[in-house]
Amino acid sequence: MNAIAEQYVRLVLALGQHDAAYVDAYYGPPEWKPASDTKQPLAGIDAAADKLIARLAAITPPAASELEKLRHRYLTRQLESMRARIAMLSGKHLTFDQESQALYDAVAPVHPDADFQTTLDELKTLLPGQGSLIERYDAFRNAFQIPSDRLGRVFDLAIAECRSRTLEHASLPPGESFTVEYVRNKSWSGYNWYQGHYRSLIQVNVDLPIYIDRAIDLAGHEGYPGHHVYNALLEKHLMRDRGWVEVSVYALFSPQSLIAEGTANYGIEVAFPEHERLAFERAVLFPAAGLDPSRVDEYYTVQKAVDKLSYAGNEAARRYLNGEIDRSAAADWLTAFAMMSPKRAEQRTRFFDEYRSYVVNYNLGKDLVKQYIESRGGTDQDPSRRWTEFVALLVSPRLPSGLR
Ligand SMILES: [Zn+2]
Repeated sequence: MNAIAEQYVRLVLALGQHDAAYVDAYYGPPEWKPASDTKQPLAGIDAAADKLIARLAAITPPAASELEKLRHRYLTRQLESMRARIAMLSGKHLTFDQESQALYDAVAPVHPDADFQTTLDELKTLLPGQGSLIERYDAFRNAFQIPSDRLGRVFDLAIAECRSRTLEHASLPPGESFTVEYVRNKSWSGYNWYQGHYRSLIQVNVDLPIYIDRAIDLAGHEGYPGHHVYNALLEKHLMRDRGWVEVSVYALFSPQSLIAEGTANYGIEVAFPEHERLAFERAVLFPAAGLDPSRVDEYYTVQKAVDKLSYAGNEAARRYLNGEIDRSAAADWLTAFAMMSPKRAEQRTRFFDEYRSYVVNYNLGKDLVKQYIESRGGTDQDPSRRWTEFVALLVSPRLPSGLR
């Protein structure tokens, strides 16, 4: 399978010549990268991927090794997903659900508008006053914005705490580290660019106001125990220890992304059970941001309700990408049902343009990872078991369909 894995890496890199966002990270042999002025035709990449799938089908992985079996299925499914991406780049139109199935090995549940109404009613009670619900929410949140001159300090504290909590349960490769940059004009709010050698570059978008909950969410999601830890552990355990070169390339529009985003989002809860998070916010982050620590519970009660609307974002993306609504209707819908400010909603529609059905990886990914880990005994009541299951998932090439 090592020879097939090498060919897989070369094909991902070749497809990256057509689709710049496709290769999110690569730290394998530099000589495998195609010369910047060469482009293998899409049809040729597709035929080569098809051949590799056939070669994999002719191999039976050793029955005794679960990891080898996962590897075999992973390579097959990643290649199938690559073929779907090639078909899309060649002009094939897929519906939102067809696309997420083909690229990410999962389909998000459909929610009628009425599903969100109970939560919106709850929010109306939590946020009394004049004006529309989103105006009331924005006014409320003003008191919880991190002032820009305190941003670096607050993030550093959140990162340090996420790291020490992760180190209590996972051993990280020596020398792992990341740098944080503050950027503008992006469709996302944060991004981890994994560089190899256990290093990441984390970018935080400061286009829009940053509220206090983002400190732990970003530190956990992009850093510990999220993307940075995921990539560093894959590099250590699969690439360096086993020579599995396929993990040295990260194909963004592939099933691996559901695992990456799902673990990054669920990892926040793993590192910070709710009461511990609130205590840390009260004692450390709110004071560091100059916010009133007596309002922690109030803020997170509202945030918890808003989080329940996350699937509303998928509904907007599905309808928009299926051509049922236009951009401004999608943005209005996000404001009405997902509690996004008009500016944030507009930013989100640009994310839909760029990343399309990738949106399911965040919330469906989190839910699939959560139920997988909790069904294996990794609950809030048994945090060390939860960490063990979580780390085991990070270092295995498991597919989204393998979480069910
Ligand atoms: Zn992410």
